[in-house]
Order: sequence, then C-alpha cells, then structure tokens
Amino acid sequence: MICRLCGAPARSLAAESDGYRFSELSCYERCPSCGYIQLLEDYLPSALNERTRYLLHRNDPADPGYRKWLVSFIEEALLPYAKSACAVLDFGSGPNPALQGILSERGYGYTPFDPFFAPGEAWRARTWPAIVVHEVAEHLRFPGVALSELAGLLEPGGVLALRTRFPPEDPADFLSWHYRQDSTHVGFFSKACLKGAVEALGLKLIHENDEDTLCFKKEPYTL
Ligand SMILES: [Zn+2]
Repeated sequence: MICRLCGAPARSLAAESDGYRFSELSCYERCPSCGYIQLLEDYLPSALNERTRYLLHRNDPADPGYRKWLVSFIEEALLPYAKSACAVLDFGSGPNPALQGILSERGYGYTPFDPFFAPGEAWRARTWPAIVVHEVAEHLRFPGVALSELAGLLEPGGVLALRTRFPPEDPADFLSWHYRQDSTHVGFFSKACLKGAVEALGLKLIHENDEDTLCFKKEPYTL
C-alpha cells in the first residue's frame, strides 16, 4: 500500500520479523522512505467506533495526574518558545478540552478544533502563532495532509508543538507496546520520522525529547 504520510510504497511490518514470526503485525506497514508505521486501511475504525472510543477516554481535566501530564507538555514544549499570551489552536481537542484551563490560567488564548466534538471551521480562516497537537498525531488517517495544513496555518515565527509516543523499533517490542493496542491509534511516528515530515514542510526543530515530544518553529520571512 501507499504510505499515508509521504506517499511512498509501504511494506508489511510482519515481513520484518524472522519468518513472519509475528503474524499479528501483518495489519501494519512501515514506510521504508519516511519510517511511518500505519495500520492497514481495512483495520481503521469506523467514525462511530472512533467517536465512541473517545468518549470512553478518561481524560478528566480535574484528575490531578492527567492535568500534570498536560502541564508537563505545555511547560516543556510551548511556554519556552511561543509568544507570551498568544492565541493557541488545540488541534484534536477531544471531548474534554483540558488544555483550555491550563492555557487560560497562563494568559493564553484558546481555540479548540476536533472533527467530532468541536467541528467549527473558523480556525482555517486565519494564521496562528501557536498550534498544539497533543496525543492526536497517532489518530490521524491522513497525517501528511493534516501536518501540511497546520504548517501552512502557522504565522512566521509561530510554534507547532506535538506529543505522540515514539514506537519501539524492534517488531517484538512493538507488538507488546500498549500504545499500539488502542483501536483509534492508526499510525505511529518515530522521532526521526516526525522530525523529517515536519521539517520537509519548512519548519525547524527547536526542541525534542526521546519519549514523545517535538517542537518546531516557522522561521520568520527573510528578504
Ligand atoms: Zn512514508
């Protein structure tokens, strides 16, 4: 099949294990060109199943552990790099937009977008000084299209902060990886894969960690 991130031909992940030892991996492909791992189209959840699953996510803004998880991302990937108190687009905000309170408390503007729970289109009609994609990239059916649109909507000097867990390289470790087992997680980016995909859109990597977070900046125009 074709890689949904970069368009190159992708190969079965099962073929990477000795003698197809891990046949369960036959529902995934890895792209030899960009490294993206995708769930085959036949296994993608229906929109109804996807929405139902999101409603079951226990992402309660009042849960101290969940709040701490979100604050750690904002403090690491957004606050050091975004203009103070700027407008922030939360792309894929989910049923309980918990980032709203965290950003508002710090003086930032907040606009949610979610195809199921905040489906307005006004966010597409302007540019943004900051966009956060928090645990959303792994849900994207067409990640290349989405990342390209977001990069285009960043204003010069704007910041794009993403968090998605980087998968284990080894097929056996990937197979037992808990993050893979969520039926709505349809694609996985290694750090190099996500860095390459976003930098190809003209953004520059300005922050990274080894688990799940990257932050990019759109360079100001130069004459
Ligand atoms: Zn690819």
